[in-house]
Amino acid sequence: MSGQLKGEKAYHGIAVSAGVCRGKVLVIHRTQHVVARRELDADAVAPEIRRFEHALVRTRQQITEIQRRVAATMSSSEADIFDAHLLMLEDRVLIEEVLKIVQEQKVNADFAFHTAAERYITVLENVDDEYLRERAADLRDLTVRVLDNLLEVKDAFNLRNLNEPCILVGHDLSPSTTAQLDKKFVLGFATDIGGKTSHTAILARSMDIPAVVGLQTISDELASGDYALLDGYSGTVIVNPTDQTLFEYGQLAKVRASLDEKLREVQHQPAVTLDGKTVHLSANIEAQHDVASVLEHGAEGVGLFRTEFLFINRESLPTEEEQYRVYREVAAALKPNSVIIRTLDLGGDKFASHLQLAKEMNPFLGWRAIRFCLAQPELFRAQLRAILRASAEGNIKMMYPMVSGLDELNQANALVDQCKAELRAENIPFDANLEVGVMIEIPSAALIANALAKKVKFFSIGSNDLIQYTLAADRTNEKVSHLYEPTHPAILRLIKMTVDAAHTNGIWAGVCGEIAGDPVLAPLLLGLGVDELSAAPAVLNEMKYIIRRVKFSEAQALAETALQSDSPSEIFARCVEYARQTAPSLFESRA
Ligand code: PEP
Ligand code: MG
Repeated sequence: MSGQLKGEKAYHGIAVSAGVCRGKVLVIHRTQHVVARRELDADAVAPEIRRFEHALVRTRQQITEIQRRVAATMSSSEADIFDAHLLMLEDRVLIEEVLKIVQEQKVNADFAFHTAAERYITVLENVDDEYLRERAADLRDLTVRVLDNLLEVKDAFNLRNLNEPCILVGHDLSPSTTAQLDKKFVLGFATDIGGKTSHTAILARSMDIPAVVGLQTISDELASGDYALLDGYSGTVIVNPTDQTLFEYGQLAKVRASLDEKLREVQHQPAVTLDGKTVHLSANIEAQHDVASVLEHGAEGVGLFRTEFLFINRESLPTEEEQYRVYREVAAALKPNSVIIRTLDLGGDKFASHLQLAKEMNPFLGWRAIRFCLAQPELFRAQLRAILRASAEGNIKMMYPMVSGLDELNQANALVDQCKAELRAENIPFDANLEVGVMIEIPSAALIANALAKKVKFFSIGSNDLIQYTLAADRTNEKVSHLYEPTHPAILRLIKMTVDAAHTNGIWAGVCGEIAGDPVLAPLLLGLGVDELSAAPAVLNEMKYIIRRVKFSEAQALAETALQSDSPSEIFARCVEYARQTAPSLFESRA
């Protein structure tokens, strides 16, 4: 398999982050874990054992699945290799030893498992029998897999190993790993699984790293050292590209360079249609250092600051003080433009491993975002206080993610009032008129938008989740990506309902999901009456370019026609046609 490819071979997946790159492939390998010893209270021992058992079950499922895939694409003898892993996984001696360590020493299961497994590995490595020595390697592999599940690390690999530019190829990349990628060394990445609006994809766009996901078996088929070209516009990875292919891509790069020049011209122009309708165009950010890109791309402030990346890839929670400094600095740098800070949206596909939360069957439907925050008032209050304090030093607004009904909004607002009272008592300044909004990203919220609008100053439509929850199509799963349709009539109606409810109640409505950064959909969203679009800084020029060529009256006509249609593909085709007619240059450089 890997390393045997000679001629050109193209793999087709889902394009998630624009750009073309070429270079050496690095297939991501799992790393050794650093496993810390944690002492447990007596009543935490039983849940810890359940956590261990759950990790074993998950590991078994994963191995069986790999075995099935390998048997389908390679020979059954290669698939048999995994039988050894399954046998070891069921080895009672090893399991009993782990349970004994957890129960007697009252320590965490990862530490207990690591300790027991390492003991066996050492014994196996030192016996004078080649067959048994090979089993040591199997056990090491298995240990990493079990620890991955215990530590909820899906794609651990050692980022520090990167010392030359490469295209990363792996089964999956978690948002937390993606957030750590160094653009200096990562030219682009390609994964077997994933969806266009997963947070991994969103980060790739925000970091401006070309990426293709949903390539199914690419991580099994390529080997480190292969040479590839990755096209993040069309979702293609070409291994061993021929001279002809490279020449064609060279021609496309020239067209792209001339488009870039045109895009730079609009960078600091207003986002206004030919017939005078102004759209507020702002940026989505994930970290303080994204501010430079916001300024460079001429965004009118930040429409969505995803604060969860402050909480992941670290050993402990950020303090109120640390958060305050980050929010303050972002707000100060973008003053007088506003910065909408979205309160913590952990859960779903974003986890803070140090919180050691139990694994859920349906994390996107589970303990996520505002639900998690309301159940952790101390953690939530620290963030609310930090946001309030920072609001004294810039134009800050705040919004809550994943609100499903009025109760959650009322509870969150009550906590804000409490925090305000405390700050007043402590003589700490804050903006008493800090505007609070809600994200509309659950169908129930769109359906009761009229009631929510009476309690907030703005709506921001989180289309990534709104589409996933309305169409019951996991945003991270390539197998259902064909069902994940932004132009589905149900989505358009929910957006229209939300915008109308906002306007009836005298507030504004924006969109901050990924559709807000798609020039093909921009006219439709304007026509539906959306007041603000917030997207990754790197796509804002394209958005502005098309908005400045659109007539609002035509956009409204497009939206009206779309609202009459029952066919997502027909609506999409109309959007494509209108966008191509209006701004043909935007489409010339795509392969
Ligand atoms: C959304 O759901 O559209 C959104 C902007 O929030 P996130 O992508 O962070 O879930
Ligand atoms: Mg969301």
